[in-house]
Amino acid sequence: MKVAVIGNGGREHAIAWKLSQSKRVKKIYCIPGNGGTALENKCENIDMKNIDEIINFVRKNNIELTIVGPEKYLVEGIVDEFKKEGLNIIGPNKKVSMLEGSKIYAKNFAKKYGVQTAKYKDFKDYNIAVDYIKTVRFPIVIKADGLAGGKGVIISKNFSEAKKTLNDFMNNDVFLGAGKNVLIEEYLEGYEMSIFILLDGENYKIFQTAKDHKKILEGEKGLNTGGMGAISPHPKLSMELMDKIKEKIIEPTISGIKEEKLNYNGILFIGLMIQENEPYLLEYNVRFGDPETQAMLPLLETDLLEIFNHIIEKKLDKINIKWKDNISCCVVLAAKGYPIKYEKGNEIKTNIDSYVFHAGTILKDGKLLTNGGRVLSIVDFGRNIKEARKRVYNKIKRIEFKDKYYRKDIGIM
Ligand code: ATP
Repeated sequence: MKVAVIGNGGREHAIAWKLSQSKRVKKIYCIPGNGGTALENKCENIDMKNIDEIINFVRKNNIELTIVGPEKYLVEGIVDEFKKEGLNIIGPNKKVSMLEGSKIYAKNFAKKYGVQTAKYKDFKDYNIAVDYIKTVRFPIVIKADGLAGGKGVIISKNFSEAKKTLNDFMNNDVFLGAGKNVLIEEYLEGYEMSIFILLDGENYKIFQTAKDHKKILEGEKGLNTGGMGAISPHPKLSMELMDKIKEKIIEPTISGIKEEKLNYNGILFIGLMIQENEPYLLEYNVRFGDPETQAMLPLLETDLLEIFNHIIEKKLDKINIKWKDNISCCVVLAAKGYPIKYEKGNEIKTNIDSYVFHAGTILKDGKLLTNGGRVLSIVDFGRNIKEARKRVYNKIKRIEFKDKYYRKDIGIM
């Protein structure tokens, strides 16, 4: 069977790597892929960006299944276009993708279906928003409605900070439209958890949990990034907490999806804040996480192609998903200066390839070069987080490139 994986990050490399282990997969087209997928068993990189071009390619090459990594394509409606052509694809349609593409839509959905979440109000008018922040208790959280590359959420400690954020988002339009409308939300204090659900339009299945580290500096300080590391499963998940997550978050979400006839098939990634042992929805994402996927997939024992086939055939209730009884740790190696300004084109020297997933890399004249801010995701696992951390950080010592930067506290909570 031929499959295609769309995207060029560590997440897509991990998906392609896991699919390559399936006996039934003969060939994987990575669109556009990266330096790591170029070297991966059964994989071939194809450089295409536009949806029409991808559909033509999939048809011409008899590709039987396509998996979409990045949200950008989902929000643009790639799934709707594939379905019109009768092609198999894993990912939700354009309407469902609004759960990620519009934070106001997502919060209104959560409120309507009783999903536990922070109290909020939404605003289209700057002056009304400013009047509102005169009445609130700080800190508060201000969120741009649309996709803002992980930069659209600001925690404001006082009135003047909040007013400046509203001015940047709504008047100065720093996110080119995405911040014209905003959410102002109650601040929650606790720890975060990511939970991944699979849906086939009729059934759902809990896939796995993870914890990611978003900030560039140790101790969760500095700028937000795409993610500097992750561990899986989440070490603080108890049976009691899982029951609450099911009752207060997952089940009302699934009821809402059914009620709204959203016909969701694919992956739903739920971002949670756990405050005083109560789960609150922070956000929905309509795809796998990066770097959580790199942490999760090395522990997955079940064939990933089989899981995807069960989604396509609406038979998720018929598959038993098995995991290694270990905890995994993923550390992102970035180029110094990320997420602002960094060099590209530095040679990467390593003799390690197990559980090394590429993101910003390119293969040029037989040499592997850095080609982005987040360069590699390095993963290892063990019986506990201490063992997993030891293994992964030992591995990192054996991977060199100029300006290599990484956090040394991934997995410490
Ligand atoms: P991503 O970077 O995953 O794209 P996002 O920009 O879509 O995230 P959210 O996940 O909603 O936005 O928020 C980003 C981060 O801001 C969260 O991971 C969390 O740390 C913090 N945050 C969001 N909402 C709240 C809240 N109500 N209280 C406290 N912190 C919050």
